[in-house]
Amino acid sequence: MIYQDYDVQALMTGPLARLYCCIGNPVVGNPTQYMMEEAFKALQLPYRYLTMNVDQNNLKEAVSGLRALNFSGFNITSPFKVASIESLDALTESASLIGAVNCVYNKEGRFTGDNTDGKGFLTSVSEVRDVSGMKALVFGAGGAARAIICELALAGADSITIVNRSVEKGKAIADSVKNKVQTDITCVPLTQSFTVTPDYDLIVQATSVGLFDAQSRLPLTWEDGDYSSCIASDVVFNPTDTRFLQEAEEKGCTAVDGLGMLVYQGAIAFTEWTGRKAPLSVMKDALVQAFTY
Ligand code: NDP
Repeated sequence: MIYQDYDVQALMTGPLARLYCCIGNPVVGNPTQYMMEEAFKALQLPYRYLTMNVDQNNLKEAVSGLRALNFSGFNITSPFKVASIESLDALTESASLIGAVNCVYNKEGRFTGDNTDGKGFLTSVSEVRDVSGMKALVFGAGGAARAIICELALAGADSITIVNRSVEKGKAIADSVKNKVQTDITCVPLTQSFTVTPDYDLIVQATSVGLFDAQSRLPLTWEDGDYSSCIASDVVFNPTDTRFLQEAEEKGCTAVDGLGMLVYQGAIAFTEWTGRKAPLSVMKDALVQAFTY
């Protein structure tokens, strides 16, 4: 049976197609719908995924609507990742620690908020090496950095140094998690030039620098030394070959790009929603294709 037959069969004999969506504002340019629908097709699942722009003042009504329409799950993107929490019934440990939700599971009518950004990052880096016991350096203290820092701490990283322009944002992350994890977290300001040393196991570029701009870079100086056991990871997924990763590779680091994190954060949601193993290569190809537009 070809995919369309599954679709018609669901319509005519039930159960009806499960519904999923992404809510945010703005959401044009978000490739998740294409990635998820390609994955549904690959597994011949007659499900639907929509992308919905929600007015800033209508978040509560939007979530109530998804509940009334029995959506099986949804993604939440900027600017609703924090504000949506009060409309949900429960949070996972990750979402609770991070204080933001990017993904919701409908478990028998109860909406549980999760945050899969940091888990996606962790899965991507763990393909190279387990992060427990690592000494990590993280540039950035925005939403992506916060999710990554919390997951690194939950996964048993030994220490994390947060480097950010606004040092108080880094301190706020450290303060909010310090009593819940064993990891030693410190913060330093990102000034005119920051010197990277080879004594880190993991260096993460989690700022938005480099997004849609292959030339822009953080003001980093790389101290000479042996970086062969160091992983350098960038959250920026478009382009994937960022200046940060180029510099890190030149120094001898193993590079992990942001596309892996994006695929895995979606794959975790996909599996939670469908109970099926996510078709990773289909999802990755869909993203790459979407980014060419
Ligand atoms: P936020 O707006 O929450 O945070 C932006 C961060 O970048 C802050 O730490 C900010 O510092 C820093 N920053 C911005 N401009 C500069 C600059 N010129 N110099 C130094 N630091 C700068 O964004 P997010 O955390 O949500 O997103 C960050 C990046 O992560 C984006 O590129 C996004 O696309 C990507 N991302 C990737 C994902 C993936 O799956 N690969 C998932 C989620 C996000 P300050 O606080 O001082 O302003």
